[in-house]
Amino acid sequence: MSQKFDVVVIGAGPGGYVAAIKAAQLGLKTACIEKYQDKEGKLALGGTCLNVGCIPSKALLDSSWKFYEAKNGFSVHGISTSELNIDIPAMIGRKSTIVKGLTGGVASLFKANGVTTLQGHGKLLAGKKVELTAADGTVEIIEADHVILASGSRPIDIPPAPVDQKVIVDSTGALEFQQVPQRLGVIGAGVIGLELGSVWARLGAQVTVLEALEKFIPAADEAVSKEALKTFNKQGLDIKLGARVTGSKVEGEQVVVSYTDAAGEQSITFDRLIVAVGRRPVTTDLLASDSGVDLDERGFIYVDDYCTTSVPGVYAIGDVVRGLMLAHKASEEGIMVVERIKGHKAQMNYNLIPSVIYTHPEIAWVGKTEQTLKAEGVEVNVGTFPFAASGRAMAANDTGGFVKIIADAKTDRVLGVHVIGPSAAELVQQGAIAMEFGSSAEDIGMMVFSHPTLSEALHEAALAVNGGAIHIQNRKKR
Ligand SMILES: Cc1cc2nc3c(=O)[nH]c(=O)nc-3n(C[C@H](O)[C@H](O)[C@H](O)COP(=O)(O)OP(=O)(O)OC[C@H]3O[C@@H](n4cnc5c(N)ncnc54)[C@H](O)[C@@H]3O)c2cc1C
Repeated sequence: MSQKFDVVVIGAGPGGYVAAIKAAQLGLKTACIEKYQDKEGKLALGGTCLNVGCIPSKALLDSSWKFYEAKNGFSVHGISTSELNIDIPAMIGRKSTIVKGLTGGVASLFKANGVTTLQGHGKLLAGKKVELTAADGTVEIIEADHVILASGSRPIDIPPAPVDQKVIVDSTGALEFQQVPQRLGVIGAGVIGLELGSVWARLGAQVTVLEALEKFIPAADEAVSKEALKTFNKQGLDIKLGARVTGSKVEGEQVVVSYTDAAGEQSITFDRLIVAVGRRPVTTDLLASDSGVDLDERGFIYVDDYCTTSVPGVYAIGDVVRGLMLAHKASEEGIMVVERIKGHKAQMNYNLIPSVIYTHPEIAWVGKTEQTLKAEGVEVNVGTFPFAASGRAMAANDTGGFVKIIADAKTDRVLGVHVIGPSAAELVQQGAIAMEFGSSAEDIGMMVFSHPTLSEALHEAALAVNGGAIHIQNRKKR
């Protein structure tokens, strides 16, 4: 007799594993299917995020930042070091240990919550049946009242630069370099390209980023993207905008990349090339032809605002559906779906998903940019506070960037919070909380902030919206 569950989740990334844990917590008999194996051939839960995404990239960003600071940022504090070395295999090993700890943690959480882990490839059949194919080819049919598809995404390949995971790598390969490439090329100035480029630049690589678009970080507020471009250039990242890669030729341990820009045909030689041009949804062999689940025109699983697919009782969440490709978006969609399966009236506020780029300075935002709001005809007031005027940032010798708060000119309601600077990711979350509760700039301005903290920059930016900042000269008179 086939196994039967209340909920079967396909994919154990931050979308799928969170949904599975939540479902079990709410008393539903739950199974989660995952096929990913680590380098030792063992099942590893956690998806892209834990295995080859958010966590390993942040581990390398943190290690490389410590090295960079020790090399370039200590002397101002009166600290000197004799000789500084970096052991790249040890750094990569530390990253792998963190990944192992966290993926093992998900397995323990499954156990503790009573989620059944099923190893293998899951495929949705008609009638909410799921075909599970184990690594040895054994096939089992599982029945479910509800199926959650959470198969995630994978890197996009481009014909001019085919990935060989040796000289031309994708984001996964870029987390495994065993030495610092002397000349590193990155195709794509998106979040992943900038983060991985930063890691290796801090460790001494000469990094060139080739970006086809003319605009830098187009999703960010223009003031932020301008500041970021200026800062990254100063740090030595050579970011070439309007540079469209047309071909590449691997010659031994080097790759010659050709591209066109405003000046015409160009070519440049690298020791390693990272292709980071985006990610596409994973739907290969996921849906039987009679499953009834539709894809949209871009190949994502088609869902409504509640992540319901075209088949009642079948849901899809995370990178495999429309919207931002972010771990926290995937997880919250998972929670929403499970709550709705239980009959609760859960919904997600898609307008308040924070975005973060973990470069230095960090870049983070939530809500709308000034440009979008102006294009929508919304009149706004803007308050900005530079970290150069923050005592805490000065103490930390980390004064680059600013906090920018945008509020509706008529109601003072906060519509966007944009931060470039130290701890931007943490600071912007305060903006997200305030916005979720419909806060005005004045509300934030009236709160008591600890001194000295970086958070005071958020306080001052909120005060500046209405011309009331204390520690800078206000542009707007009260
Ligand atoms: C280098 C890098 C850095 C990133 N950094 C961040 C960050 O800092 N913050 C952030 O929010 N996001 C970050 N992301 C994005 C984040 O990893 C994804 O948004 C997130 O993992 C999506 O979660 P998911 O559950 O939808 O899919 P995934 O994490 O991709 O998980 C899907 C899982 O499903 C499994 N699967 C697929 N098909 C099947 C099948 N048929 N049967 C069984 N199993 C299947 C896969 O093996 C995989 O484990 C980063 C991504 C990369 C590549």
